[in-house]
Amino acid sequence: MCLEQRIEHYHRDKTRDYYQCQHCQLVFVARASLPALSKERAVYDCHQNDVHDSGYRRFLGRTADPILARIANKAEGLDFGCGPGPALAAMFTEQGHPMAVYDPIFAADRTPLAKQYDFVTCTEAIEHFHYPHKEWQTLLQLVRPGGWLAIMTKLVANKERFSTWHYKLDPTHVSFFSRSTFEYLAQRDQLTLEFIDSDVMLFQTPND
Ligand SMILES: [Zn+2]
Repeated sequence: MCLEQRIEHYHRDKTRDYYQCQHCQLVFVARASLPALSKERAVYDCHQNDVHDSGYRRFLGRTADPILARIANKAEGLDFGCGPGPALAAMFTEQGHPMAVYDPIFAADRTPLAKQYDFVTCTEAIEHFHYPHKEWQTLLQLVRPGGWLAIMTKLVANKERFSTWHYKLDPTHVSFFSRSTFEYLAQRDQLTLEFIDSDVMLFQTPND
């Protein structure tokens, strides 16, 4: 996340080596282990994320509810990495919020990335980022001053837990964040940060 060069080997399993940046604590796979687009698409096509599935909506509600509690009527949002079924966008639209969506595979029109929003959501997507440093900058540029950025991703606890962590077994999961990494980003980029849930982080950008 920080382009520092202090990298240490973190873990090895049957398929990949994992490394950790000693500055921002991000854990990531070697470039050679990044999945090809065709492989990514094949894995995502297996995900069943139905807009009408009540369990899935409850899951996403843990990200949507804290934002809904903080934004004004008709505040505009973007779901970045919406996936094949834009369930989260539908949940905000139902509450009267105009929503744009972007996904490099499922909604690849980049037009929505040319403007700014009152809130941006990125659920179960940041762990797929191949260039997290760059993609984080993209996310921040999409949020208006005083706006919100919500991230949902499972967090790295420590090396021991990582060794048995099923989350890393998905070949499309390549960037693994921890509380420390998000705290580092908040401090560096002058964001306020709340840990809403074990896997939900809410950032607010500074006012102008
Ligand atoms: Zn780093």
